[in-house]
Amino acid sequence: MEYRNMGRTGLKLSEVSLGGWLTFGGQVDDDTTFACLDVAVEHGVNFIDLADIYARGNAERVFGKWLRGKKRSDFVISSKVYWPMSDNVNDRGLSRKHIMESVEGSLKRLGTDYLDIYFCHRYDEETPIEEVVLAMTDLVRQGKILYWGTSVWEADNIEDAVDLARHWLGYQPFVEQPRYNMLDRHIEDAIMPMCAEKGLGIVVWSPLAQGVLTTKYLDGIPEGSRATYSHWIKEDLTPENIERVRKLTAIAGDLGLTMPQLALAWILRRPEITSVIVGASRPEQVEENVKASGVTLSEDVLAEIERILL
Ligand code: NDP
Repeated sequence: MEYRNMGRTGLKLSEVSLGGWLTFGGQVDDDTTFACLDVAVEHGVNFIDLADIYARGNAERVFGKWLRGKKRSDFVISSKVYWPMSDNVNDRGLSRKHIMESVEGSLKRLGTDYLDIYFCHRYDEETPIEEVVLAMTDLVRQGKILYWGTSVWEADNIEDAVDLARHWLGYQPFVEQPRYNMLDRHIEDAIMPMCAEKGLGIVVWSPLAQGVLTTKYLDGIPEGSRATYSHWIKEDLTPENIERVRKLTAIAGDLGLTMPQLALAWILRRPEITSVIVGASRPEQVEENVKASGVTLSEDVLAEIERILL
């Protein structure tokens, strides 16, 4: 496993990391989740991405169970705040109240006294950005979080947060978490250059387009796959994309790689990227995906991929 600094910080993240959305405490039973985590760590994964909302707190609880008895400092653990955790009008968004109360909930469920990274899970149009930057800065000063980040924020909003934090000598966000993969390249125009300029790393979600960028959907929808239980995957599961994957799989084969390894290595070709956060329903998937770290794709191969993706 190779490691990259998260933006301009000294924090090092594994190029391939593991996330718990839909899987931990949800689709996947605890023993299989523990097996995925064990395999990941065996192969050098050090970053685990969670959120309060994943399985309504259960993803954090299950990870907390696995973490018990292990050396806390070996891991970079993230969680997130924004989405409603109940019907209460204040149990949502990025108000100071919700941020301060949510972090306590996450720490308790995880059984740890600090988070390495705390993400604002979306931008909150109803809370002034100053309030968010101050609350996050206070959490860093209290030692409850070490770094904070944004997820799916517009470039302008991230820039505002960075500028305010620098003006007040507070703590700027040092990482953005967007969706990025061979089928969704929207961040290349504005987010990538802005993050590079302002010193933020980028950790990407759904790097395999939820499994569409594997070979599993080439001949229909297999039993037990994500497409059998989640509607989120449907927009990527089109005949055009399946045809692209068929062609990309041939390129992967010529290189001695599997399709998921090619898809992840393609993301990691960009120096702006710190880590790809993969999901997994089985330890064998983790075992396969971690091998994308350290793979270099030649200019010729990248050009061939570009022709298929256009
Ligand atoms: P991926 O694109 O990596 O999809 C993961 C799914 O693809 C797995 O659960 C599995 O599904 C399938 N898969 C993975 N590897 C393989 C393989 N080698 N062979 C075959 N199938 C494979 O990412 P996710 O969509 O799961 O997102 C990853 C993480 O990103 C989340 O856990 C979360 O931490 C973060 N995230 C953040 C969001 C945000 O708003 N900030 C939003 C969404 C995710 P199956 O076997 O069930 O078919």
